[in-house]
Amino acid sequence: MFIRAFVSIMNPLIVANWKMQLSDVDAVATAQQLAPAGWAADVEVVLCPTFTSLACIAEILRGSSVTLGAQDCAWQERGALTGDVSPVDLVSIGCRYVIIGHSERRQHLGESDTIVGKKLHAAIRAGLCPILCVGERFEERAEGKREAVLMRELEVLRGLSLVGSQRLCVAYEPMWAIGTGHAAVPSDAAQAHAFICDTVREIAGGAVADRLRVLYGGSVSPTNIAAFLAERLVHGVLVGTASQTAEGLRSIVTASSHSR
Ligand code: PEP
Repeated sequence: MFIRAFVSIMNPLIVANWKMQLSDVDAVATAQQLAPAGWAADVEVVLCPTFTSLACIAEILRGSSVTLGAQDCAWQERGALTGDVSPVDLVSIGCRYVIIGHSERRQHLGESDTIVGKKLHAAIRAGLCPILCVGERFEERAEGKREAVLMRELEVLRGLSLVGSQRLCVAYEPMWAIGTGHAAVPSDAAQAHAFICDTVREIAGGAVADRLRVLYGGSVSPTNIAAFLAERLVHGVLVGTASQTAEGLRSIVTASSHSR
């Protein structure tokens, strides 16, 4: 009960997914503009640049209130996995979060629920806070299958246990809203969030559900963010396009304060 109350009064989480859109030079310059301590005091901001920028940006963010996340990780700690990056190495470089199962990876790189599940559990073992992305395609929504899709994608949480103060994030990202400029209606997203909260409780148990934050992702902008965060079960946002410049992310953070 105490933990549930704690989650609801926590500052909103704003996760910037820079995808593969910024060069190393641009990512570093953007992080330098965002790092100054004191900025974003009433929200938690996480930057997720590409792997090649992580080490440099970790140094830039040292002592800052802005934290670091990766966009993916390997499904095991060590092994013959050419091209992959261990979640353990992400922790030692300074990451606290990792995005898992983003729809672009599911869609273009064939990441199955099985792979997503293995990555999620590896991230948890390494001590990261995973941001598990779930969400339906346009056709699935039209066919009334949203809840079935969410339930199937959340099944990877079965058997999960969090250690100490470790937390879990689930990002509800309807695929038709990502990068399209057509965000979900906030009250409709909130219904999906309620379903996610209930399903996580059922699949992973109360101890995990009490440490869950549900984020909305899909065409979040400075214009619509306040309406999303005004929904009780929207604990934060995962932002792609609108977060990829320092000015854009600042506008998002500034606008988020109008919801509280
Ligand atoms: C994303 O890629 O996770 C995302 C939400 O992108 P956008 O904000 O551009 O829709």
